[in-house]
Amino acid sequence: MLGLRTGCLMLALYLIQSVEGATEQTGPLKMTTPPAKLVATPSSPRLQDFLAAFELKSGTETADRDYFDRMVAADDVFENDQFLNPLELELAREVVERLRDVEAFVGHGRFTTLNFEAVFKHSAGLASRRLTVADIRFLRDIFNRSSESLGFNGPRISNQFLAGHAQEALIFYPKYGEYLLSGDAIEQFERLEAEFGSSVMLTSGYRGHPKQMLLYLEKVVEAQGNLSLASRNRAPAGYSFHFIGDFDVGDVALGEQSFSRRFLKTSIYQSMVRAGWVKWRYPSHNLLGVRFEPWHIASVCDEIACSGG
Ligand SMILES: [Zn+2]
Repeated sequence: MLGLRTGCLMLALYLIQSVEGATEQTGPLKMTTPPAKLVATPSSPRLQDFLAAFELKSGTETADRDYFDRMVAADDVFENDQFLNPLELELAREVVERLRDVEAFVGHGRFTTLNFEAVFKHSAGLASRRLTVADIRFLRDIFNRSSESLGFNGPRISNQFLAGHAQEALIFYPKYGEYLLSGDAIEQFERLEAEFGSSVMLTSGYRGHPKQMLLYLEKVVEAQGNLSLASRNRAPAGYSFHFIGDFDVGDVALGEQSFSRRFLKTSIYQSMVRAGWVKWRYPSHNLLGVRFEPWHIASVCDEIACSGG
């Protein structure tokens, strides 16, 4: 029984590795904003209302209004949204359950650090709850899909399904139960802590591909298979900057509520804006296809992102 299970896993890994490229590459930037129309969301806020709610000035003369409509109403359904077919949606539900089983088995914090190979090995020990070859093929298929087919606008960060960072490169912050990638991420976070005090908290740090895939597919399942809707809320695995060090911060007093517009009212956020050196990955007018995320800090700066404010 054990031999059969291990054999299936090895076959699956072989199938995966045989189509994987040998090297990690960062794909070309894709900044397209394909036109899309709102289907039927009469109560959706418009750009002006959105900016007003955040007390931000309009500066969108050159903006694609349809694009911003989608970002404002990220949870609405739009024409041209991409969907999983019913069979794929069933697989997505199963995969979410089985990834959660592995997460429960290894612990939340540790799960964020794992690559897919490690997840498959842990899963193989979970008897009837283990990932099947069909599940693994589905995971690889979703990972390899183009940004267009996932309704996502941002660049690919990693094109290697089994890639991950060595455990030694990940530093655990027991106070938050989260990990940060060595280097720029740690430097940025510790500078934030030093300047803005102990009310700054790390709400989400490094995420390997399995953790990002779980977050993404949870949203896909909740949205009845709508990949584009999920992409407006969470980057698909392979497209998340959390894989290269970005992290989310919050205000200790707000806790989980830091992932909301309430964070904009905190003295931490306002101090970060005034400080001038903090860089955000998804500012209000980002063209990466992700809603405004004032809590998401860019660990490294490049031409794709890192806009202030
Ligand atoms: Zn984030």
